[in-house]
Amino acid sequence: MPELPEVETIRLGLERWALDRTIRNVSVAHPRAVRRHLPGADDFRALLVGRAMTAAQRRGKYLWLPLDSGDALVVHLGMSGQLLVVPSGTAPERHLRVTLTFEDGGPDLRFVDQRTFGGLSVSAGGAALPSSIAHIARDPVDPAFDDEGFARNLRGKRTGLKRALLDQTLVSGIGAIYADEALWRCRLHWARPTETMTRPVTARLLASVREVLDEAIAVGGTSFDALYVNVNGRSGYFDRSLNVYGREGEPCPRCGSPIRRAKWMNRSAYWCPTCQRAPRHPHP
Ligand code: ZN
Repeated sequence: MPELPEVETIRLGLERWALDRTIRNVSVAHPRAVRRHLPGADDFRALLVGRAMTAAQRRGKYLWLPLDSGDALVVHLGMSGQLLVVPSGTAPERHLRVTLTFEDGGPDLRFVDQRTFGGLSVSAGGAALPSSIAHIARDPVDPAFDDEGFARNLRGKRTGLKRALLDQTLVSGIGAIYADEALWRCRLHWARPTETMTRPVTARLLASVREVLDEAIAVGGTSFDALYVNVNGRSGYFDRSLNVYGREGEPCPRCGSPIRRAKWMNRSAYWCPTCQRAPRHPHP
């Protein structure tokens, strides 16, 4: 599933290739891809044809493209959704769901999705912030992120630290991979009760989260899933620089202790038992 750095890579690609181009045609090859657009595929198409996307915006891992009409094209990448910029007329991809062509005759924008959990929709009047995204908190690399508010709300959560980092109403854009990497970096245990997080410790945590996300963005995101390809069809390669995630039994790059893995919320948590000491009262 794409996380913030992958989505940022896609956003940058869209910013470069898709803006200020008048949409000539929209073809929906599979109705499931526009199921979130409740008025249906014809309405979806009518709201896009003749319009141009004016920006590429992101909140956490949610993407939207404001249109010159004041509406917004909302992108749900789901598990396997890809946006491809390909020369117009290129043979359709196997799992092609939606194609946008442009008046300038330049490359198409294609939405390809093998598992069809993702899709596109148009949010009426959603250019500033689509209503479907409004409940998502800002992410820590957003210049408008409120560090003080985050520190306060984190303490009030009364849960485990990793669980709080994945709570999209508290902070967005941190998935399981980046949570484990950031916690390792600032030497905090995933089950640490959030009510024990003092302001200086929270500041350390945020600094680590930002470092991890910034580094991943700089190299174009992580890819564990061959299905994920960025807007220009290239995979990310940050996975080679992961310190704990997916490395159970391998030595901690800092102290050499074997990395451990625990079952956590139907998934896993990876940590170094030496660098990240377990809290006295863990809070899963
Ligand atoms: Zn260690």
